[in-house]
Amino acid sequence: MPCVLLVNPWIDDFAAYDLWARPLGLLTVGAWLERAGADVQLLDCLAREVWGGTHRRFGTGKYVAAPIPPPPALGGVPRRYRRYGAPEAAIIEFLDRLHPPDYILITCLMTYWYPGAFAAARLLRRRYPKAVIILGGVYAFLCPEHARAAGLFDHILPHKDPDALARRLGAITRLPLTANPGRAVYHLYGTPLRHAAWLTGVGCPYRCDYCATPLMYPGLIRKSPADLVAELDEITMVTGARDIAFYDDALLADSEKHFQPFLESWLARGRFVRFHLPNAVHARWLTPDLCALMRRTGFTTIRLGMESLAQDLQSRSGFKVSADEMERGVAALRGAGFTAAEMGAYILFGAPEQTLAQTLADLEYAHRLGLQVSLAAYSPIPGTPDFTRSLVDWPQLADEPLLQNNTLTIVRRAVDYQVARRRMLALNRRRLA
Ligand code: SF4
Repeated sequence: MPCVLLVNPWIDDFAAYDLWARPLGLLTVGAWLERAGADVQLLDCLAREVWGGTHRRFGTGKYVAAPIPPPPALGGVPRRYRRYGAPEAAIIEFLDRLHPPDYILITCLMTYWYPGAFAAARLLRRRYPKAVIILGGVYAFLCPEHARAAGLFDHILPHKDPDALARRLGAITRLPLTANPGRAVYHLYGTPLRHAAWLTGVGCPYRCDYCATPLMYPGLIRKSPADLVAELDEITMVTGARDIAFYDDALLADSEKHFQPFLESWLARGRFVRFHLPNAVHARWLTPDLCALMRRTGFTTIRLGMESLAQDLQSRSGFKVSADEMERGVAALRGAGFTAAEMGAYILFGAPEQTLAQTLADLEYAHRLGLQVSLAAYSPIPGTPDFTRSLVDWPQLADEPLLQNNTLTIVRRAVDYQVARRRMLALNRRRLA
């Protein structure tokens, strides 16, 4: 049976923080490969449990990192550029302990993180010249031509549909791959983990102009509540993690059929974990019953995707949340006992045609509701309507994914960002005082 090495490569960026991240797509493909009989191994260049790093609250923390010269396209940016993840020498030692792979499957999440994936491909090509190197992940989906032009990969997998991806990968590896059931293979870490990331499904019913989710998943795909309980049992047993982060894009959609029955069954298991929502949930779907259940099941970090209540931005996000819905949602959370330290809202900064005055008004509004506020800097994502708007001012975005980095939004609008950031910090200090 073929030997497959799954690789979560380095992140080269101005900033990166481990907010319960795991390479979920890669780990799920690992399950398909194992089920088809492959010998599957994992190299996760970012796993703090393997390579070190600093550990903060609830299993989050800082990756190990080293300063590196920025690529020429980012040469003038007044920020330090780093490679996040294991030192290369440690990776080479790690590879010495593995079986030589026949296939190497590298993922890459953000489009502007491709240098880390390219560096991993070069290292692995030198080490295993006969192995077939395959690239997948969101970057491969959004920028397949850019990835192909690098000439580093034998195959690019620009698929997000699980069945299509399983078919294509099955044809390459000659393995009978099927996408269902799709559980992440956490046991491949071979070590206890501080946290686990998790998806109960993919897709979102909205089509916000700045978001890639509608491009990747045309509809909602969900696992059944019974499968979710069994999967969470397995994840917590295999990893020992007590902090679990949901990365769904629309976790609470149809919650009475999906999320609520799962939580009720999980509660009946009587096992303790802390749940976190770093990817934010929709305030409109928070009801008093659901919030009470979330409180009882150990939810600890609640984030709401408010983005902006400005009319033009609302119309570009399908009116996914109104002021009324925010107020009802926050009241339901508060009624269930969630505190200001646990609840927060993401406020968008720097989207096309978004003004500083709008951002400041959104910060003030969310603060008045009793929420901590966090600025989420806009990142132009190829294929989205806002990307097309961004090209008007910044045509180079189309050819160079490095320029899609959200830090560049902050740098380009530095004066506005400083004003918004100062306001955000002042409001949060007041909230938590
Ligand atoms: S609601 Fe969230 S996940 Fe859905 S399309 Fe909008 S930004 Fe994306």
